[in-house]
Amino acid sequence: MTNQIHPFQLGAFKLMAISDGAFPVTRDFFFAETPDELIQHIPTQFRAPLNFLLIDSGDKKVLVDTGLGYEHSPTAGKLLSNLKAAGIDPEDIQTVIITHAHLDHTGGMLTNGKPTFPHAQYIMHKEEWDVWTSQPDSNEYKQLLPLKNQIKLLTENKEILPGIRLIHTPGHTAGHLSLSIFSEGEHLMLASDILNYPTTLEHLPSHIRAEQTPTQALETRKKFLEEASSKSALLFVCHYPFPGLGRIERTNKGWKWIPVLVQ
Ligand SMILES: [Zn+2]
Repeated sequence: MTNQIHPFQLGAFKLMAISDGAFPVTRDFFFAETPDELIQHIPTQFRAPLNFLLIDSGDKKVLVDTGLGYEHSPTAGKLLSNLKAAGIDPEDIQTVIITHAHLDHTGGMLTNGKPTFPHAQYIMHKEEWDVWTSQPDSNEYKQLLPLKNQIKLLTENKEILPGIRLIHTPGHTAGHLSLSIFSEGEHLMLASDILNYPTTLEHLPSHIRAEQTPTQALETRKKFLEEASSKSALLFVCHYPFPGLGRIERTNKGWKWIPVLVQ
């Protein structure tokens, strides 16, 4: 399989969409509260894409989430080899943002029990940390705990570097973060798991069954899409087809996904 990396420019930032592969899910798990007609073309078992973002600000390399990791699924864990193909070693990553602690986003934090990105500082929301550290049997807790001295907890929205803002967008999980990235008049909003699949933009209550608070997530989703539309922002979505990049357009049913096509 060819490497799935998609470099692109956003103002002065060099960005790269990187695939970690895909993870097997059932349609039932991935689409709660979803009308059949929007998902009937999808098999009852399928592989959900895993797309992550690398931001090179010039001074720092920032990775957003770490992928599921090959230890958790043989169809995932391609993030590191894709980074290497792009000339980036794990040691080069200075900051890792954890949008939320679900395993498909944190499974790659550790490799053989050791930090995959040895020089990185991790940033996550304090509410996310509190949720999982109160569940010591969870896989999420097991991923986070060994790195606790490298994790900085966020309590409010913050611009961590000029042009890279972290925004608390709760619902999918309590401490879910999205990103707003802006440079030289261009704007990208990273949704992480606020969104699940392009066709369900027509029916916003649709959500991944692992969502912690669907009513709150629905409000977050609506607000996020309105903001993206008002700013004409490029969107980056973790579980949309690679590279997970596109724009949205308002329709009479809700929203429509206009993907950025790659050769
Ligand atoms: Zn996810």
